[in-house]
Amino acid sequence: MNSPPGNSFPTNPVVNALTIDVEDYFQVSAFAPHISHDEWDTMECRVEQNIERILSLLGDAGATATFFTLGWIAQRYPEMLKRIASDGHELASHGFSHRRASEQSPEQFLADIRLAKAVIEDVSGHHVLGYRAPSFSIGASNTWAFDAIAEAGYHYSSSIYPIRHDHYGMPDAPRFAHEVLPGLIEVPIATVRILRVNLPAGGGGYFRLLPYALSRWAIARINRNDNRPAMFYFHPWELDPDQPRVYGPGPKTRFRHYVNLRRMAPRLTRLFRDFRWQRADSLFLGTPA
Ligand SMILES: [Zn+2]
Repeated sequence: MNSPPGNSFPTNPVVNALTIDVEDYFQVSAFAPHISHDEWDTMECRVEQNIERILSLLGDAGATATFFTLGWIAQRYPEMLKRIASDGHELASHGFSHRRASEQSPEQFLADIRLAKAVIEDVSGHHVLGYRAPSFSIGASNTWAFDAIAEAGYHYSSSIYPIRHDHYGMPDAPRFAHEVLPGLIEVPIATVRILRVNLPAGGGGYFRLLPYALSRWAIARINRNDNRPAMFYFHPWELDPDQPRVYGPGPKTRFRHYVNLRRMAPRLTRLFRDFRWQRADSLFLGTPA
């Protein structure tokens, strides 16, 4: 394949971590005040077709990824989970019910992440080593969550976005993989550090909103200047411009959710081509890919 202009791939030996938070459009935290958990069963699900598309993009790029999957989704789509694993990707946990860690008691949180791990392992027949908190909801006020994550038997977490944001963030946290407890590693979402401020570089609405060239510059800078892998994430619903619209939330939430959905698939194709990508367990735990 010919390299696009400015491609950093040939001279950039760093392998980055590619991750997908497997949840449907009606389960995102920003919509939670408008769609109750009880209504989930009545909503049109789009996750299967969107995961198919992601698997096909990854197959074309020859990349593997980690799928942080909700237990609720795993229970309803066992075949989809098997298909993800049989394509060589890692299955990890995004909790069962997508409640923020910061809105649960330590006991509720532990029960939720234990259940998700058990369901995903049961359905897929694979060990689950990784966990990601909904909406990066681990910060300075609830570091007890790491004790629960270790107690539930996870080996790594990717639950901190070290930026300032109105809904999440822990701007003073380390920017790269570090041990939070003996036997538990935290791998924060990628940031680029400019003038002592961490700027988001690992996905989310920023990836769709800002020009792709900025994301490419930021990841190349992390690989080159920090000589570290970038942890990148996205959601299946971000590739689905035709998803049913949710009308309750205000303009800011709606803008963040719906901006540039049509650009997502072509952007991901470029991202997969411009950098090297791999599942998180093989990068950070050294398990065979
Ligand atoms: Zn989520």
